[in-house]
Amino acid sequence: MISRLCDAHCHFFSSRFLELLTKDVRALPTDNRAAAVSGQLGWDDPGTPEALADRWVAELDRHRVARAALIASIPGDQQSVTAAVARHPSRFVGFVMCNPAAPDARGTLESLAEGLRTRHVRCVALFPAMHDYGLDDERAGSVFEAAEAHGAAVFVHCGVLTVGVRKKLGLPSPFDLRRGDPLAVARVAARFGRVPVIIPHFGAGLLREALMAADQCPNIHLDTSSSNGWMRYHPRLTLADVFRQAFEVAGPDRLLFGTDSSFFPRGWQRAIYEAQLEALDAAGANDEARAKVLGGNFDRLFPGGG
Ligand SMILES: [Zn+2]
Repeated sequence: MISRLCDAHCHFFSSRFLELLTKDVRALPTDNRAAAVSGQLGWDDPGTPEALADRWVAELDRHRVARAALIASIPGDQQSVTAAVARHPSRFVGFVMCNPAAPDARGTLESLAEGLRTRHVRCVALFPAMHDYGLDDERAGSVFEAAEAHGAAVFVHCGVLTVGVRKKLGLPSPFDLRRGDPLAVARVAARFGRVPVIIPHFGAGLLREALMAADQCPNIHLDTSSSNGWMRYHPRLTLADVFRQAFEVAGPDRLLFGTDSSFFPRGWQRAIYEAQLEALDAAGANDEARAKVLGGNFDRLFPGGG
C-alpha cells in the first residue's frame, strides 16, 4: 500500500535566509549576496520566495509528496515562508523560527501573531540551545501563549544541534546543548496541554528523555526526520529499534514523518524516506500505523491540505 505522504520537516532556505545567516561575513558582496553564498556552497541560487516555492512544489510532485512543512530557519525570515504558503496553501504549512530572547522579540512576536492569525504560520519553531534561553522562561511561555491563542503548534529542537550550512560556511555555533532538554519541554507542554508540541529527530540523542516527555504529555509528538546520526551515541541502535520503542511509548498517533530536506539541487531527500519505510517495516508497523506516521498525523495536526 502506498500511503499519502506529508513531510513534517523541510527547511525553506530562501535568499533572505542566506543573507541573514551571513550578515556578519565581510568578505561577501552586498549585491546579490544570496547568489554569492549559494555559489560558495555549491547550491542553486534560491531566487525569490515565489520561485523557490514553485520549485518545491515541482519537487514534491515528482516524489508524490502531498504536503510539506516549510521552516523559516532563521529569525527574521518569516516573510519568505508566508509568501510560499500564500502561493501554495494546499501544499505548504508554515513553520517559523522565533527567538523569544532576542532584543527585538516584541516586534518578532507581533509579526508572528499576524502570521498565526492569517494561518500562514501554523507552528512556531524554538531552538533554545541556539538562542540560549530556558524553556521555563516567561519569554518562551509567551510563544506558547500565542500558539494556544491561534490554535497553532510549537516545535522545540532538543538534543544535539549541528547546522550543516553554518559548518560549511565556517560560522561559529556556540550552542548550549543543555538548553534543549525534552524534560524541560515536558514541563511547558504540560502547562499548555492544548498546544501540539513537536520534538524533532526523536530528541536528537535524547531519545529516552523524549519518550519520557511524550509518555507524560499527550500533546508531545516526535518527528522522525533526518538521517538520525545521533544513533551513533548508542551502541548497536538501529532506526527500526527507535521506531519500535517510539510506537511502544508514544503510539502511532504521535509520530510525524520528516526528511529534513533543505536546499537545491539536492532537493527532497528520498533516501531518508526509503530508509524510514524500511525501518517502519522492520519495526512491524501495520498499514494503519504507517499511514498515520507518513501523513495522517500531519493532516490531523495541520488540517486544510488539498
Ligand atoms: Zn532540520
